[in-house]
Amino acid sequence: MTEKQYTGTAPPLKHGAGKNPDVRNVARGLVEAATAAATHMPEGCTVVIDEGYNPRHGTIHSQHRVKGRAALDLCVVRDNKRVRNRGEDKTGLYTLLHRHILGEMTARYPELVPHLGHGCNFGTSSRHPEEPDLMHVDLGGDRGHIKPMISELGPVPNVEYGKLRVEWPPPEPKGPPRAWTEKMERRKRR
Ligand SMILES: [Zn+2]
Repeated sequence: MTEKQYTGTAPPLKHGAGKNPDVRNVARGLVEAATAAATHMPEGCTVVIDEGYNPRHGTIHSQHRVKGRAALDLCVVRDNKRVRNRGEDKTGLYTLLHRHILGEMTARYPELVPHLGHGCNFGTSSRHPEEPDLMHVDLGGDRGHIKPMISELGPVPNVEYGKLRVEWPPPEPKGPPRAWTEKMERRKRR
């Protein structure tokens, strides 16, 4: 990839359409790092938030249930199409995004870096331990067995991290609730 792709001019992180993640209960450092990381993605890419704090997400151990320090699920959208955010990282875009998150975290909140957990290094659930959870990033600690480890790859070289000013608290999600929340409710009841 050429250096030109890392100009920091892509749009910052956005809320995904029709979803209502609670980002105010995600640590400020993680929201800032992910928001700024999105601006380093290649042209034509945006990054949207699918999920933040959700007390009903997954199992009781889910990092999405950690109030005030919840996980984020992110989706890369390229040319208006969502890039599959679990399983093998065929495009390399999720590995790139995680490296940028690490870079922004290192520049902004170095004390949080050892806590940064990259879903591409672990499975989407205990039932699918070999399916990388590409979209997921949290503060549950650097962990996982799926290589390469983002912490070993490190940030992308020659990128200026720590520049974008990120608003805090983040804006309220737009629109009424929420097709997606309702869908999840229906799933739980089944
Ligand atoms: Zn997640």
